[in-house]
Amino acid sequence: MKYIDLHVHTTASDGTYSPSDILRLGKNIGLEAIAITDHETMNGLDEAHRVEKIYNIEIINGIEISTEWEGTELHLLGYLFDHLSEDLQKVINRLKEGRERRNEEIAGLLKRDGIPIEIEQLRKDSKTRIIGRPYFAKILVKCGLAQGISDAFQKYLTPGKPYYVKRVYPDANTCIKALIDSGGVPVLAHPLKYKFSNEKLYTCIQELCGYGLCGIECMYSGYQKAQIDSLSKMAKYLNLCCTGGSDFHGQNKPGIQLGYGYGNLRVPYSYLEQLKKIKWGM
Ligand code: AMP
Ligand code: ZN
Ligand code: FE
Ligand code: FE
Repeated sequence: MKYIDLHVHTTASDGTYSPSDILRLGKNIGLEAIAITDHETMNGLDEAHRVEKIYNIEIINGIEISTEWEGTELHLLGYLFDHLSEDLQKVINRLKEGRERRNEEIAGLLKRDGIPIEIEQLRKDSKTRIIGRPYFAKILVKCGLAQGISDAFQKYLTPGKPYYVKRVYPDANTCIKALIDSGGVPVLAHPLKYKFSNEKLYTCIQELCGYGLCGIECMYSGYQKAQIDSLSKMAKYLNLCCTGGSDFHGQNKPGIQLGYGYGNLRVPYSYLEQLKKIKWGM
């Protein structure tokens, strides 16, 4: 059996492994293909493709985009797009601007409260990678205001807490369209993360199907067999494909292993074949 991982973050967004590190690791554990799906950036793809031949692993263009549906933050995965496409780049640029505005606001709040933050350094870092709340969480831990990253999130960086600033997301329809226009295949990421009831999840996915959604991420770190089966059933019923991935972030999401999730994740190569079938109709 050939196995793959279709949900992986690198240092181009908020992972701790570079694209080359990911391929080396993937080779060591015998993965056949990996999709690099950084948050809102395609910057990791060039490096991954450069070393693709060295490690003899198939690299799939991927991206994870935050969007909004009825007030909930939904994540969309895009696969097999043309990474020189302007449609996708436009959406990414809008997200980047929104993110940078939000980051400046959070930094302002920290500064106001006397927490040491180098705004110039933040701006410099924003140029080379995607900066999100984990960046501020680290600062809060470093200055002793939180015990660890997740404590910092809980105390300061989630809705209702003092340093939480809402980001503005493009709607799901716009993102799905941009992914399709760039030749990509749009997929709903980690469908159980939104804490919808079964009915609401179904309504949501059905609506996204109307915009052109092609698949749902049925296999994901921590999903139990019954959950995978139920998502797969929903996918089949709506004529969508199934994808699967670990959401590996290196040390930024401890416990998750590339290709294996929390230990029992195994994504078959046939999932990638389904994606290719949708893109090329083979
Ligand atoms: P942002 O895109 O800036 O809103 O930040 C999202 C990132 O924060 C994601 O990559 C998550 O992994 C991380 N994150 C969100 N909530 C938590 C939490 N409660 N504990 C630790 N990390 C979190
Ligand atoms: Zn992430
Ligand atoms: Fe996500
Ligand atoms: Fe992710």
